[in-house]
This record gives sequence, structure tokens and C-alpha cells, in this order.
Amino acid sequence: MIGLISATAAGAAARDRLAAAWPDRTRVYDGPVGDAVRAAFAECEQLVCFLATGAVVRLVAPLLGDKATDPGVVCVDEGGRFAVSLVGGHGGGANELALEVGELLAAEPVVTTATDAVGVPGLDTLGLPVEGDVAGVSRALLDGEPVALKTEVAWPLPALRAGAEGSYTIRLTDRLVAPAEHEVLLRPPSLVVGVGASKGAPVEEVLDLIESSLREAALSSRSVAELATVDAKAGEPGIVEAAQRLGVPLVTYSAEELARIDVPHPSDAPLAAVGTPSVAEAAALMGGGELLVPKRKSAARPAMATCAVVRRPARGRLAVVGLGPGARDLLTPRAKAELRRASVLVGLDQYVDQIRDLLRPGTRILESGLGAEEERARTAVAEARNGHAVALIGSGDAGVYAMASPALAEASDDIEVIGVPGVTAALAAGAILGAPLGHDHVSISLSDLHTPWEVIERRVRAAAEADIVVTFYNPRSRGRDWQLPKALAILAGHREPGTPVGVVRNASRPDESSRLTTLAALDPGTVDMMTVVTVGNTATRNIAGRMVTPRGYRWQETAQEETE
Ligand code: SAH
Repeated sequence: MIGLISATAAGAAARDRLAAAWPDRTRVYDGPVGDAVRAAFAECEQLVCFLATGAVVRLVAPLLGDKATDPGVVCVDEGGRFAVSLVGGHGGGANELALEVGELLAAEPVVTTATDAVGVPGLDTLGLPVEGDVAGVSRALLDGEPVALKTEVAWPLPALRAGAEGSYTIRLTDRLVAPAEHEVLLRPPSLVVGVGASKGAPVEEVLDLIESSLREAALSSRSVAELATVDAKAGEPGIVEAAQRLGVPLVTYSAEELARIDVPHPSDAPLAAVGTPSVAEAAALMGGGELLVPKRKSAARPAMATCAVVRRPARGRLAVVGLGPGARDLLTPRAKAELRRASVLVGLDQYVDQIRDLLRPGTRILESGLGAEEERARTAVAEARNGHAVALIGSGDAGVYAMASPALAEASDDIEVIGVPGVTAALAAGAILGAPLGHDHVSISLSDLHTPWEVIERRVRAAAEADIVVTFYNPRSRGRDWQLPKALAILAGHREPGTPVGVVRNASRPDESSRLTTLAALDPGTVDMMTVVTVGNTATRNIAGRMVTPRGYRWQETAQEETE
């Protein structure tokens, strides 16, 4: 919940705009501002104060505890010109909130946290537990001092501007070591603890066993990603509560699944009880990996719990990111976040140029020229398989005539894949032309480089016969000039010569241009590879210079089942 506090009429007006925009996220605190700030600080995860920073500093100062747990506080000035992230920039999410509030109120976000200002991610924002000299190492990163990144476990980190050597160190490790001087330990969620327990096993016994096993193997409990057991024990209180106390999820598998895993220490007892010769080892090994602690029994007599610990294989991350048609404000915030989440960027050189300034310093860029699609796809997947965080970019939507399919055709299930949709050329062109896609529509690529012309022609014919609006991608290039006239002729066989046709070149780019013409009047010579051509259906009209395909509402008998 975001607590909103204001003192003046102008502040209250801005406050009300925020409250109206985010009714479920905000709560207004009225009354004397001192009491309001104290109440909101205690009850909310974040505060937006429409007050001077000085006043807020004085009010929150006595309430501040720890930057990891304090709420994030944003101040908006009387004139609504600035949204200042005051405290809790990272942990409290105030930096992010300042950006959001700024966007909503048209105020300038003011973020002073050093790591955000220069594009290095805060070490405490990586989603991993951290130990050691966070302040010292962060400062070294910012000052450009050499910082060494030692990865004992492969993990898809964002770019950290760290190298092989340095007097400061970031160590990615699941081992139970203490941070050295000038060192930060990052704890990857790399360990899976398989657990078995007899009915009624006490939580202390289960937890003691897990903790002593980790300690004796010199492994950090902060790297435990999950507990795993057999379905039959999904509700066993000792296991359920052990997972809760460790703050990790409990995952369960069927006895049949577990019985298929090859384990070093099968036994008859679980076979008789739940139908698999191994619970702890098999559950821990379910996702593959290295068995670091073979099955152990608890010290109690009779022993009621068993556990085993596995280091699971690194899972790299492949984000397939659509950049939109070109304009920066048509790049989605999610796409931007994924570009900053990556340590490796793979893409066509001209698309890399489009977003180079957004990348974090230290991001490894693998760019190539036109035509190297399959090689790019292979490279991206191989980098993710090596445990890296990879962003594979494409213009528009990366799944539309672009990189997503060749990449996913290569990818196995040992990497995580995240798709980020983008605004396609057809959608961007549609918005420029008016509303040409108001009813059923298709996209057809006229490039016969990878698709035989007979196939393309058959699809154009089908769209023509079915009276579907068509957007042609890759309509015409220097070496490919007869396909567009041919495709238009097929459509003209089923549509009037006056059918509206929209031609949009470089949609949303600085040299954008568009024309609304007709099937009969279109000059294919004005079309090139930077262009999409949208042909209306038999109902499409030119209305006030805009291309409109009627939605087909029957106004008398409003069709209830169709929504806007
Ligand atoms: N993935 C892209 C399409 C790539 S195919 C998307 O989702 O939009 C390349 C073709 O897309 C070009 O030949 C052109 O026909 C079209 N195209 C891409 N960007 C465009 C833009 N900004 N304006 C007009 N057409 C564009």
C-alpha cells in the first residue's frame, strides 16, 4: 500500500489524482501531517508526501530503521514539478516509485542513488542475498576502481562492470565462507534439499538435520532454493514448516517420478511406505545436478527424517525482446528492464544502435549484420546455456518474422526463456493510418527468400477470397520487385479498385511518412523494405483522410457477445 500525505490545497489536488489513478494501491492519510506521516510509515510499504523535502526529512528521521525494511519515501513539491526519491531508493522501491509518480503527474523524477544514476545495478537489488562490504564494493564500482567478479557457480547476473582482477571482489558462491575485506558475497539459489520424514517427524528434527548437513558440507543455507519431497509428504507438518522457516518453497514429486531417478543410496523402507526406493536423494536430484550431501539421517533415535543436498545446474536466461517499430517511447518499460537485466546482448547491428544507450556499462554486445539470423539465434542460446543473462533483440515484436522462432527452435529446457512483446510494424502503421485493422486481418510477408512464391501466392489468394484486411511485410526490395504488383492484382480480383490502401514507411522513426491511396492508384515504385502496405477489405473506407475498417456492429440489435 502507498500512503499519500498532503498539507496544502495544491498538494491535495495532486494527491487526489494519484489516488484516482491507483485506487487499489493507495490510501489517503488525512489530519495533521506529523501524525499522518507516522501512521503511514508504520502501515505502508511506500509513502508519497506532497510536502517539502525538509519537512519530510524532519518527520521521518526519527522513524528510520534499516534501508532493507524501511518504506520508500517520495516527495512531490508544491508545484508538482519534481518527484524526489528521498529514502528507500532500492529496498523501499522509492526510485521506481518516483519514476511512476513522475510519469503520472508529469513531474521530473529525481533519483540520486549513485548506482542508478550511472547505470550500475545496486548489489542489493539483484534479488540475491548479499553479505559483506556492500557499501565499499558499490563505491568501487561507481568510482571505476577495478572490481573482480569471481563466480563459483554460474548464474545469470546482469552486467556488473566487474572484471577478472581487482582489489575489491564480488564472489558468487553457495559455500559457507565469510566475506573477506573489500568483498561482497552473492548467494545464488543453487541448492536443492531433498527431504524425507516419517509421519509426525518434529520440525526441529527436520530443520536440525538440514542445517547440520549444510554446515558440515560448508554450504550456505542462504543459497537453498527449495525443499523437495514426495507428493505423499506434501502436507507433513515437519517438512512444511521447515520450508516456511527457511523461507523457501516446498516442491513435491510423485513416487513414480522419484522411482525413475538413479540414486546412490536406495532403500526398502521408503519403497514400502510411499512406493519409491529414494525420497531425499531422488527429490533433490530431480532437476539434475551434483549430489553434494548424500542421504543422511537425523541424529534422533529412532531417526524420523532424511535429507540430501544437490547443487543444481545453472539455468541461464534468454529474454527475447521486441524493441517496437523505432521510437523510444514505443519501447515498452518491460523491454527496457530486460535490456538492463542482461549481461549479453545479441542482435542485428542496426537494432543494437537503437538501444545502445540503455545498456548497462559492461554489457557484452554480440552484433552481426543482415542475414546472419541462424547464427545469431545459435549464439544467443549458447550464451544462455553457459549460464548468462542474454537479451536477443528484434524490431517490432521479436516473434513476428524475427528472431524468436529460430532461437526457440534451438533452445532446450535447460534455460529460462522470457518473451517481451513489442509493438509491430503493422500496429504502428495501423495507428498512423487510422483504424484499418478494426476487423479480421492478416500479415503476409512477400519475401520469397525462405518461403516459395507458390505458398505466398496461395495465402494472398486465401486472404483475398475471405475478404480479410492484409498487411504486407517485406513488400519490395531492389532485387524483388514483381511480388507486390502480383499480390495486389490477386486482391484486386476480389475488391473494388477504390479499396483504400495505406502505405507507411519508417513508422515512428524520424523520417516517417505515410500515404493513403487505393488499390488502383498505388504505385509500387514508392514502396521499399522500410515499408508496410495495408490493403483494406470490401468494407474499408477513407473517412476524412483516415483508413477505417468498420467493426461491423449492428447498431439496432447490439451484439452483446462482442466486446470492444
Ligand atoms: N519483427 C518486425 C518485422 C520484421 S520483418 C515487426 O514485428 O514489425 C521486416 C519488415 O518489417 C520490413 O521489411 C518492413 O516491411 C517492416 N517494418 C519493420 N519496421 C518498420 C517500420 N518502422 N515502418 C514500416 N515498416 C516496418
